[in-house]
Amino acid sequence: MLVPTFNVRGPNVRESEHYIEADFHYRKSTVVVGPDGTAQVKPTAELYTFRTRKHVGRVGVMLVGWGGNNGTTLTAGIIANKLGLEWRTREGVQQSNYRGSIVMSSTVRIGATEVNEDVYTPLRGLLPMVHPNDLVLGGWDICGENLGTAMQNAKVLDVDLQRQVEPHLEKLTPLCGVYYPGFAAENQRERASHILPGHDKAGHLAKVREDIREFKERNELDKVIVMWTASTERFMRVIPGVNDTADSLLASIENSHEEISPSVLYAVAAILEDSPYINGSPQNTFVPGCVQLAEHRGVFIGGDDFKSGQTKFKSALVDYLVNAGIRPTSIVSYNHLGNNDGKNLSSAPQFHSKETSKSNVVDDMVRSNQILYPREEDGPDHVVVIKYVPSVGDSKRAMDEYVSDIFMGGKQTIVTHNTCEDSLLAAPLILDLVILCELSTRITYRTASTPGFVQFHPVLSLLSYLLKAPIVPRGMPVVNSLFKQRACIENILRACAGLAPEDDMRLEHRALPPYKHVANGI
Ligand code: NAD
Repeated sequence: MLVPTFNVRGPNVRESEHYIEADFHYRKSTVVVGPDGTAQVKPTAELYTFRTRKHVGRVGVMLVGWGGNNGTTLTAGIIANKLGLEWRTREGVQQSNYRGSIVMSSTVRIGATEVNEDVYTPLRGLLPMVHPNDLVLGGWDICGENLGTAMQNAKVLDVDLQRQVEPHLEKLTPLCGVYYPGFAAENQRERASHILPGHDKAGHLAKVREDIREFKERNELDKVIVMWTASTERFMRVIPGVNDTADSLLASIENSHEEISPSVLYAVAAILEDSPYINGSPQNTFVPGCVQLAEHRGVFIGGDDFKSGQTKFKSALVDYLVNAGIRPTSIVSYNHLGNNDGKNLSSAPQFHSKETSKSNVVDDMVRSNQILYPREEDGPDHVVVIKYVPSVGDSKRAMDEYVSDIFMGGKQTIVTHNTCEDSLLAAPLILDLVILCELSTRITYRTASTPGFVQFHPVLSLLSYLLKAPIVPRGMPVVNSLFKQRACIENILRACAGLAPEDDMRLEHRALPPYKHVANGI
């Protein structure tokens, strides 16, 4: 059974006009491992009080790379949903929807009725969240095409839908982008015709900050989230005194240092404007200086690289294999695509950024099982190949081969083939990132050791489910496993709403009469 909303009535939850406040006993175990390898486990519980502001306000999203395949697909998708559009396809009439968004299209179990029928609510029903139809979109692009033309060039959406949204999209034109040759692939240079003039990076920073402020004021927004969905850049060199601290980074922008990339400039502008910044591509925008700036300012950052297709599947499949006691020995991931992203990635330095973000996604699963992998270096061979094939356009093909050791020296080979429009997977992820990030700005918590109510750490690891190479606060282990990442989102939201975490014990179904009495309990 699905219910749209619910109220939690219990001593742990208090709801006022402005807030939902919930007490939650967070249980964890502290383990001390002795020199002989024996472990002493001490279970502890700490009281967290979560306070969620109910008023969502008006939310704006500024996309860097607004005129790209993801940007135009997202914008057209929101307009279509807002207008309730339907369009004809070969298979019949298609309605607008938000498939692929965990917030909009996945459910969570809130409990069971007295006759043990499970009751679900949409994930978005757990707490007040912004509806995608209410988002105000804007952004920058180095290509000055209006979004209608850009959407047609992207060749992602059905023609009958394009025809209906075009009149709305053609009125939207991105702001001039920041372009420094050498960061995106050389083959993107011809697109770069709509850019901020000159080489003064401090001037560019000031202009991007002004763009954010102006967008916020003009649209009467309460907050703006800035997201990079522009072309993948090469990695920035991390240089002491240039970008390793917040101060050095700001000074390097002032001096127009050559190693300041466009992405770090947008990120710094967003942080200085108190706007969260999310990196949907693999480059290392979050150099130490950028992370430190976000920490000093208390502004959320999230990244890196949308986890949309092949990697999402990998982080579910490898989790299954390793937790089944099966030992993957090689993972070979090949894909080809023909959109502008593929063209950009056909250049070696940009491919290297993508290869890196795709490569580490099984590391935590390998580390979690020393029965299968006694040493970290025994992990599976992992190879990633990307090829540019223009004729397939946005319809990316991903082929993966997983070879594993099974019982008694046997081998298991799993081969998968995934075909799908890349941007139709990425657009709902962008929404989830925005919605969860915005929600996080309204959640505070208090424990015995905090100085009152505080926000989550600025490095917003809660978003990991949606990102290929999640960045996490210093010292926190990275979790790539898809199921754990989703459980993290669900359980934190449940705690804020006053619900117990979903532990799947289902004792109400297992501990049932007729009872068999066992003498002495054994
Ligand atoms: P795209 O090439 O269609 O769009 C990128 C846009 O960014 C282009 O319009 C380009 O003109 C613009 N751009 C480039 N540099 C810019 C700058 N400095 N400032 C402003 N605009 C700039 O690519 P896409 O398919 O929309 O993908 C966008 C990004 O998302 C890529 O980096 C891609 O690797 C990443 N990504 C996509 C997916 C997916 O499933 N689609 C998954 C993971 C990551």
